[in-house]
Amino acid sequence: MFVGGKWSDGSAGSFDVLNPSTGEPLCSVPRAGADDVQRAVEAAATALPDWAATAPRERGEVLRKTFELMTERKEDLAFLMSLEMGKSLTDSRGEATYAAEFFRWFAEEAVRIGGELRTAPSGANKILTFRKPVGVSLLLTPWNFPAAMATRKIGPALAAGCTVVLKPAQETPLTALLLAQLLSEAGAPPGVVNVLTTDKPGDLTETALADSRVRKLSFTGSTGVGARLLEQAAPHILNVSLELGGNAPFLVLEDADVDAAVEGAMLAKMRNGGQACTAANRFLVHESVAAEFAEKLAAAMGKLRVGAGTDEDTQLGPMVNARAVEGIADKVDRTIAAGARAVLGGSVGDGPGFFYPATVLADVPSDAPAATEEIFGPVAPIVHVSSDDEAVELANSSEMGLSAYVYTRDLARGLRVCERLEVGMVGLNRGLVSDPSAPFGGVKESGLGREGGFEGIDAYLETTYVATNW
Ligand code: NAD
Repeated sequence: MFVGGKWSDGSAGSFDVLNPSTGEPLCSVPRAGADDVQRAVEAAATALPDWAATAPRERGEVLRKTFELMTERKEDLAFLMSLEMGKSLTDSRGEATYAAEFFRWFAEEAVRIGGELRTAPSGANKILTFRKPVGVSLLLTPWNFPAAMATRKIGPALAAGCTVVLKPAQETPLTALLLAQLLSEAGAPPGVVNVLTTDKPGDLTETALADSRVRKLSFTGSTGVGARLLEQAAPHILNVSLELGGNAPFLVLEDADVDAAVEGAMLAKMRNGGQACTAANRFLVHESVAAEFAEKLAAAMGKLRVGAGTDEDTQLGPMVNARAVEGIADKVDRTIAAGARAVLGGSVGDGPGFFYPATVLADVPSDAPAATEEIFGPVAPIVHVSSDDEAVELANSSEMGLSAYVYTRDLARGLRVCERLEVGMVGLNRGLVSDPSAPFGGVKESGLGREGGFEGIDAYLETTYVATNW
């Protein structure tokens, strides 16, 4: 683990990191105990005053330098992600670039933290505001984007002048440890970035959130865990940002270019093997084009080469662990039992590793499990709709509201649909929404706050207002 600028063991032993392509252990990493958590919070709290007082340009330079190191070490980063998480090298290279870009973007934002000066409406005084870092930030990240979910938080936190304790997912601690090393090489002072590893995340967060020196919690992961953390953050009224689960609808309107929609669907569904919070979860396709869309999507998904993430030829790697495969299989089985038809895949094969095949389900009832629950795998359920209104109504029937996709040849019609969707992000004739310079986040049970874009740094800043006159 990396605490106070030094590598250390954990006081609670160690745990194995598995290779999902084989199911075999890769290596073991330290398990942080309660005293390690206290050491990390202490290191972050001690480093805070100097880091907050460091010139914004210097803070930005550390991030900029880390962006450069990540770019130089892109192949190492990509290989490590494919090894511990299983995604294809193409996906990992894409993530390495995407992750590094958060540091470049927030290096540029560090020097643009502003305040304002106004005259009160009554004219009685001036209103002066300035921004200060929130303080020690606890960052909790999931396994599906081991680099980008960490840089999307570390970038704005450091730019704002906060110090951090990062706890990566137990499945993918190695990428986070490499990031800590690169940040340190780039000049992040000891204690500014600390990384704790554990396979007992509940114990770690309980200790950290009970420590009143921690002032910020930023979590990316499932809605259930996010809700529990929100409760644990309540006693100290922590500043909380949550990026939670999704159930993205992918709307194909009757006038859509079906080939373009299939191309977008391949990206929205199959990037990361479907293990993305923004992954298209349910395809709401107009009945006049549904058969053509299902046939073309099944043809494209059926061509994907399956294999270990670290094989150069692989286009679809394994799922992250055995539990993930069981969960996907269960949703597919229940959806078929509810009346859907598998036109591609639909059952787990033999052999080692945690693989689930590319699957297309046609004639899916809109209330079937694959259409209502987050799948997090390479399964595309297709639901027929007969109008834009029905598509919007079904899209909004979920308690989640992270992202959506809309395909139509009519831009105005598409924008009208976008306006009505209860989500934080929409891809309009685009299968990818993620961009470090755009605000990422959801509504309803998909989260609180935005990451990236101009808003991203706000999550790590407080506002002080001074009433004055001169
Ligand atoms: P998860 O909630 O199981 O784990 C996320 C993080 O929380 C990990 O670091 C894990 O160790 C930790 N954690 C797990 N149980 C905990 C507990 N009881 N107390 C404290 N911490 C705990 O989620 P996951 O399976 O790693 O990731 C998949 C989920 O993340 C999906 O629902 C996906 O939609 C969501 N996700 C959301 C976004 C987004 O930006 N909205 C991005 C990626 C993933």
